[in-house]
Amino acid sequence: MEMTGVCSICGGYAKPVYTCSLCGAMVCNKCFNNDLGLCRRCAAQARKGF
Ligand SMILES: [Zn+2]
Ligand SMILES: [Zn+2]
Repeated sequence: MEMTGVCSICGGYAKPVYTCSLCGAMVCNKCFNNDLGLCRRCAAQARKGF
């Protein structure tokens, strides 16, 4: 099964697609923070301590 789509952060081709557990955005592996399980945008927010 192939999961493909468009990254909602960089707009690039996303394969595989990662889903942010906070905002639910579909992002590519480059825009996904594996440590936090969040997209790059939410990871930046989380680092600031919300
Ligand atoms: Zn991306
Ligand atoms: Zn997010």
